[in-house]
Amino acid sequence: MASVNPILLEKETSNWVKAQLAVLYTKEGLEPFVCYEIQQFQLKCLDDICYNNGLLSGTLCSSCCAENLVKCPTNKICNVGRGKCRYHRNAATRFNPAGRPNKICHNFTTEIQNVHRYSDPSYKNTDATLWYGNFWEVAKCFMPPDGYADKASSAETDFNGIISIILNHKAFQGKIKEDLNNKINMFERARDIGNDVRHSSKPEVEDLDLKKYFHLLRQLLSDPKYLAQDTHAQDAKIKLTELENGPLVISEQCMEKVLRDSKQ
Ligand SMILES: [Zn+2]
Ligand SMILES: [Zn+2]
Repeated sequence: MASVNPILLEKETSNWVKAQLAVLYTKEGLEPFVCYEIQQFQLKCLDDICYNNGLLSGTLCSSCCAENLVKCPTNKICNVGRGKCRYHRNAATRFNPAGRPNKICHNFTTEIQNVHRYSDPSYKNTDATLWYGNFWEVAKCFMPPDGYADKASSAETDFNGIISIILNHKAFQGKIKEDLNNKINMFERARDIGNDVRHSSKPEVEDLDLKKYFHLLRQLLSDPKYLAQDTHAQDAKIKLTELENGPLVISEQCMEKVLRDSKQ
């Protein structure tokens, strides 16, 4: 562990590094929960689709890409309003559910659409040919619309991506007491904190703001329905308390992550 001497950093800069780390620890505390829930969703979709269509359990399809599955035009994906669609590259990749083998992937998009809080999954991020075997490609449908296509795992995905899955996939409400339908909920506020810290014009955070950040992130990790009993969330909470009260100690690996996230 390399220790950053707090005397060498201005107080506000040290606060900024702490805020970045707080967001990172919170993200790491939520990752196993998010991965597990999305994997359960992926497996249930595949099971339900086979059952509902009279297919043998375990029937898979890996031949449809998202372009095949998204109608042209689709709002926010095909920019037909401003001219030609630049998403659907050619006729072969146009939406054609009748031609899809067993309609597996077409039904998969319906399931994703149905559980998306705003009914606008981010298909630009995802490789649909991997949906049957890679739950992280399914997870990407619930992230912000752009910027996640090359993120292969939860570890590579930033806080905004992870928390957006919780906010956009309606099933998470089953394990969260906070009302996620309410626009001012603590998960939305945590997402704002992550974005504010990352996009701040100067790498500085005031004492009072930092205090608020720690308070909210700890409160989020204490949501009583599930997270309060989850080991990973609770470990993250302990790390937040140590970070808030102790000197700024940061490993090179963590510093790299912080710098990588702040550049994205
Ligand atoms: Zn398919
Ligand atoms: Zn199109």
